[in-house]
Amino acid sequence: MFKLITDVRVFAPETLGPKDILIVGEKIAAVEKPGTIKIEGLGVEVIDGSSLLATPGFVDPHVHILGGGGEGGPATRAPEIRIEDCLSCGVTTVIGCLGTDSVTRHLSSLLAKARALEIEGLSTWIFVGAYNLPTPTITGSVRSDIALIDKVIGAGEIALSDHRSSQPTFEEFLHLVAECRVGGMLGGKAGVAHFHLGDGHRGLDYLFRMLEETEIPATQVIPTHINRNRVLFEQGLKWIKLGGYIDLTCGPEPVDEDEVSVTEALSQIKAAGLPLTQVTVSSDANGSLPVFDKKGQLLGLTVASQKDFLQAFRKVVLDKILTLEEAIKVFSSNAARFYKLQGKGKLLPGFDADILLFDESFTLQYVFSRGKVMVEKAELKVKSTFSY
Ligand code: ZN
Repeated sequence: MFKLITDVRVFAPETLGPKDILIVGEKIAAVEKPGTIKIEGLGVEVIDGSSLLATPGFVDPHVHILGGGGEGGPATRAPEIRIEDCLSCGVTTVIGCLGTDSVTRHLSSLLAKARALEIEGLSTWIFVGAYNLPTPTITGSVRSDIALIDKVIGAGEIALSDHRSSQPTFEEFLHLVAECRVGGMLGGKAGVAHFHLGDGHRGLDYLFRMLEETEIPATQVIPTHINRNRVLFEQGLKWIKLGGYIDLTCGPEPVDEDEVSVTEALSQIKAAGLPLTQVTVSSDANGSLPVFDKKGQLLGLTVASQKDFLQAFRKVVLDKILTLEEAIKVFSSNAARFYKLQGKGKLLPGFDADILLFDESFTLQYVFSRGKVMVEKAELKVKSTFSY
């Protein structure tokens, strides 16, 4: 019930210096000067944090929790994610989504999977919809799904400027965003429309047009995979200047020079003096990934993984691309705030006890998810239902 992490350097994401963190049940109850929290007559599990630093758990806002893929036929449908995959990489919160396949994958299954992960110890939300417009829903409309179903915080990933999209008209696009906006208002949620961007030359055209021709604010939508090519990335920088948010997709090191790695993207955004608070990073985990040899020959398929998410965070911090505070915002707090994820993204009293403890080399030593120890001394302690 009570856990006390002692004398740990806290990044909330703001630097708070050495503190004791008291966890009561699933929540952070106190963050105080070392030695000042006294509990008597009750059992307290004490974790020595003196050589460690504490950050909020990672928030990954684009995860194919049910498995994505399927674009090469039924045998290429990617497998479902397991909590071990997330928690071993420090991801304590995910937003689940469907992708290209809305024929053999369904929103009811996505919702059930999100509930299962939550029971197993992760925190989860979902997007309603899939690549195509009009997009699938649970209750019959995007607006009512967002307003009525607790786990639904927006719609996504809806494909634009991609050969796999449903080639939506501007009006179809706008209608979806309007449904998200009003659904969000009625449900007290962010009501974000999350757009997959392909390599097509139209890029962010619909988003720019939306700002020019309607009353909808830039923050109602977010484009993802914005670092997939340099032209799209440039448009992403323009989108930030207009007050919008962008989502970068991390993955294996780019093989194609046209692709912009997360580290390069973040250093460019910082160098341009643009607000890093309008940037999130996601893993696209359990979407399918082609694997090529050095000559560019297709070797086979694998799944995108949150290992690349943790790897990207470590690289960004260790290579000093961003300060630790900035990196925590990009990998956790920004998404929590943008999607209005209650209790997430900060290491402060009243927030959920989703806490990562790193050592000096930025190796993950401890992961707490809603107060439970999931990784202890760099060893995974949790197993999903079918791993026993
Ligand atoms: Zn996508």
